[in-house]
Amino acid sequence: MASAMTQVGSTRVYEKGLAGAPGSVDLIKSIETFNVRPRWLFVRVETEKGIVGWGEATLEGHSEAVIGAYADFRERFIGWNSADIEDIYQTAYRHRFYRGGEVLMSALSGLDIALWDIKGKTLGVPIWEVLGGKVRERAQVYGWIGGDRPSDVLEQAKARKEQGFTAVKMNAVESLGWLDSPHALDATVKRLEEVKSIGIDVGLDFHGRVHKTLAKQLARKLEPHQPLFIEEPLLPGHVEELKKLYAQTTIPIALGERLFTRQDVRPYFEAGCIDVIQPDISHAGGISETRRIANMAETYDIGFAPHCPLGPIAFAASLQIAFSTPNFLICEMSWKMHYNKGDYDLFTYMTNPEVFQVRDGMIDLLTGPGLGIELNEKLIRAQAEESKDFNWRNPTWRGVDGGIREW
Ligand SMILES: [Mg+2]
Repeated sequence: MASAMTQVGSTRVYEKGLAGAPGSVDLIKSIETFNVRPRWLFVRVETEKGIVGWGEATLEGHSEAVIGAYADFRERFIGWNSADIEDIYQTAYRHRFYRGGEVLMSALSGLDIALWDIKGKTLGVPIWEVLGGKVRERAQVYGWIGGDRPSDVLEQAKARKEQGFTAVKMNAVESLGWLDSPHALDATVKRLEEVKSIGIDVGLDFHGRVHKTLAKQLARKLEPHQPLFIEEPLLPGHVEELKKLYAQTTIPIALGERLFTRQDVRPYFEAGCIDVIQPDISHAGGISETRRIANMAETYDIGFAPHCPLGPIAFAASLQIAFSTPNFLICEMSWKMHYNKGDYDLFTYMTNPEVFQVRDGMIDLLTGPGLGIELNEKLIRAQAEESKDFNWRNPTWRGVDGGIREW
């Protein structure tokens, strides 16, 4: 038994989750969070039998809010059977009345990923094995070029090609007003042409910076140059507006990093206004819900391209789904990304970074148990201690008139 159960009228109250079959019970002993540079929030869950699972609950710029949600998780889930991932997910999602949103879902994502890591380690298999086995042997990835305010992209694209990438992503524009000079869009076309000239594919991230007044113009200008996709061409919430834009362009439209759970993606799927769904595994509901979103997308002939400008745990978790999901297309990889400053990059906290080696634009099947990565816990603890008062914040932009602009 994982739990004491009491009967109140027709309702059963389970203090600490469902009972387990003999041998399948390994109770959650501790849940810890680590706020580390460059901007990541790692989660460590340990069981009574000493299995340690790692999750990532990074919500860039809002770590304190997510850490706060973990006080409730500790109160609720310490003492639950770590094997009951779905019951814990459902309890976390549904049993506090309020649900969804970026803060609660990022917290739940980190816990969910850690529990899947424990599941794989307990069984001695990679997570993709438990998700139904592999459907591919390698997964395509893309790196970033250009930073927040894209420039010198040709040199950076050449470097990416040398590193083994066959596709990159860059921001399409700097900040724009609701209506801006059409000349502001010409540089975007030039940059895309430059990067494509070396034989590399390019996804263009509009980053929600472009309002619909200019999004339709930009899409038309880009169309002859065939970007791999345009991402967040409009801010989330504009389903009807996106539907109109979709009808005006043949460029694949991608979106999803600011959508959480199937409930959030549903209107976009039903409206038929996207080609690629980009859930972020650290926000959308961890491995459990991200896999479900990908499966749901398949029924609409929508491809799955995990958003992942985050740390090694989120990246490994995304790849576990990539290896076991038929409509996977390509995964974002934050190695040498502009946010990873100083000594802190994708491999910093790993002791087996070789598993993420990029060859011919792809990463080989992860074969280790659980997430398939090994972490330097001592360094994580030391860095979290050093970063106690550090919180990454995104830039805040204003136009020349002083008005706020989207970042
Ligand atoms: Mg984006």
